[in-house]
Amino acid sequence: MARLIKNKELAGKDMSIIIDGNRVAQEMRSEIKDKVRVLHEERGTIPGLAVILVGEDPASRIYVRKKTEDCEEVGFYSREFKLPADTEESRLLAIIDELNRDGEIHGILVQLPLPKHINRNAVLDAIDPRKDVDGFHPYNIGRLFTGDPFHHACTPYGIIELLKRYNIEIEGANAVIVGRSNIVGKPLAMMLLTRHATVTVCHTRTKNLAEVTRRADILVAAAGSIEMIKGDMVREGAVVIDVGINRRDNGKLAGDVAFSEVVDKASFITPVPGGVGPMTRAMLLSNTYEAALGCAHH
Ligand code: NAD
Repeated sequence: MARLIKNKELAGKDMSIIIDGNRVAQEMRSEIKDKVRVLHEERGTIPGLAVILVGEDPASRIYVRKKTEDCEEVGFYSREFKLPADTEESRLLAIIDELNRDGEIHGILVQLPLPKHINRNAVLDAIDPRKDVDGFHPYNIGRLFTGDPFHHACTPYGIIELLKRYNIEIEGANAVIVGRSNIVGKPLAMMLLTRHATVTVCHTRTKNLAEVTRRADILVAAAGSIEMIKGDMVREGAVVIDVGINRRDNGKLAGDVAFSEVVDKASFITPVPGGVGPMTRAMLLSNTYEAALGCAHH
């Protein structure tokens, strides 16, 4: 695509721009912090986020802790619920019901995965869609198709925000997404389509994957398969967004893109870590702020 190639030329012939998700997320947090101050001064509202964790999953515990720290940084009120792994579904539903009616809480997040005895859909369905800052409620997913949900799922929305902040044109672009999960691939496809991309979604049964990915102006890898996107699967000048978070045998993180093979071909590329990951957390804050703003205007 001419514009993308031009972007590459702007950066210098053989230079690719490495998208700095940490920087953008930090920028967003400081913007949100300023807006929170104004919201508080003008309307007396402080955005409130409730985070519910059921069980002891170590990764989930870290995610929850980081979300609470983020809230502190931007001046949100936050409430953490740490429930034992054997918590009954009815207890969880009762807590959600209370939070739905709680005026201090604008966002409710149930950390996934939930223990097996709890019906995840029943829990997600119970959250008031206006407070569903993860964007997983069927109302918000349905509304995504008509373009106006209360909240967008954080990871794909974070990708849209990155593209926006790097002035990458979505309109008219051939966007190829590898992965069709409910939390990344599918909602991202709809968000890109709404913004006038021509979208192709690939998955494990896709034939001739490399042929499809080579047509991409914007290529998003969200397969959870370590470095599966090789250099010869990417066209010169493409924008490459790597959602994958995989752990190498040595414990280090790696994406779905073979970064060293792809970096010189791409016009823009996200690293792992430090690309899409930090944006997911920033979008949660943004959604919670928007929820509080919506309440303040009612
Ligand atoms: P998932 O396992 O639910 O879905 C993976 C999808 O990729 C499936 O649709 C599958 O068909 C497709 N796929 C897998 N291997 C493939 C292959 N070889 N060829 C073509 N398609 C293939 O995964 P998910 O929850 O969407 O997560 C995907 C990756 O993104 C994981 O590494 C996950 O850790 C990461 N992730 C990152 C963030 C973030 O904040 N950065 C958020 C969510 C997920």
